[in-house]
Amino acid sequence: WAFYTAGMEGAPAALLHDEHLLRQALVQQSFVLHYQPQVEVASGRLCGFEALVRWQHPERGLVGPADFIPLAESRGLIAAIDHWVLREACCQASAWHAAGLPRVPVAVNLSAIEFRQRDVAQDIAQVLRECRLSPRYLEVEITESALMLDAGQARATLSRLQALGVSVAIDDFGTGYSSLAYLKRYPLDKIKVDRSFVMDTPGDSDDVAIVTAVVQLARSLQLRSVAEGVETEAQLQLLRRLGCDLAQGYGISRPLTAAQAEAWMRERSR
Ligand code: C2E
Ligand code: CA
Ligand code: CA
Ligand code: CA
Repeated sequence: WAFYTAGMEGAPAALLHDEHLLRQALVQQSFVLHYQPQVEVASGRLCGFEALVRWQHPERGLVGPADFIPLAESRGLIAAIDHWVLREACCQASAWHAAGLPRVPVAVNLSAIEFRQRDVAQDIAQVLRECRLSPRYLEVEITESALMLDAGQARATLSRLQALGVSVAIDDFGTGYSSLAYLKRYPLDKIKVDRSFVMDTPGDSDDVAIVTAVVQLARSLQLRSVAEGVETEAQLQLLRRLGCDLAQGYGISRPLTAAQAEAWMRERSR
């Protein structure tokens, strides 16, 4: 059951409590990033990390993004969170490079709401300067829905990011409602094949057909393909056969804390 009183705008008390805690978390910066490696399918070489945010909740411990990003989006807090993530990830990558670790890019997720802010490219340029990170080591991941509402503005933002030297990946590809036309129209760099299509390969022939088609589509548009949620050796073998460029998933590595990611890089470069 939920508990409503006047002035709460119909929101359940538990949600309001969480909203309060989330606002507090922003002030106290009680978020943490985990980094999941992306590797080249053909060679296994490290090609980058995706930064994934977690909330250190005072009562519930470490909370995953699925449990607070929707609340943050509906309460106007997502821009602040994404901005914190952007800065933290860029400064971490910059610190790793300075420490002599492999110079690979870091990818951050931008909510569609944040992506449609008029000054997002300017914001990113500012953070890159502050963290002393070259734009070529930053990638932003957006979903199809970010490109949907205002095509003109999406194109302008993507062009500014391209001019800056930041690359852009389409996340969760195939799960949104959109036409394929935007792949041609917008300056993009990567397509991330959603985990839901990769999950049941190689056993499910429909999913194999979908992954095959997306990898081929990416190749013919000269975009790089990334398979998400790769858990098994059999999946990796299939991706190798299909010529998928990059892979990411528990089978390669779970998302790691910054310290673990650093150890992972040192271990592999020995
Ligand atoms: P996503 O961008 O599709 O990120 C991949 C998600 O799949 C991550 O979940 C990751 O931990 C999980 N994953 C990776 N490999 C595997 C695998 O082999 N098997 C399974 N079962 N899962 C795998 P996570 O970290 O819980 O993030 C969930 C979603 O939250 C992300 O999906 C992304 O949409 C969003 N998110 C994460 N960080 C941020 C952020 O900083 N800003 C925004 N706006 N959204 C974020
Ligand atoms: Ca992502
Ligand atoms: Ca994804
Ligand atoms: Ca996803």
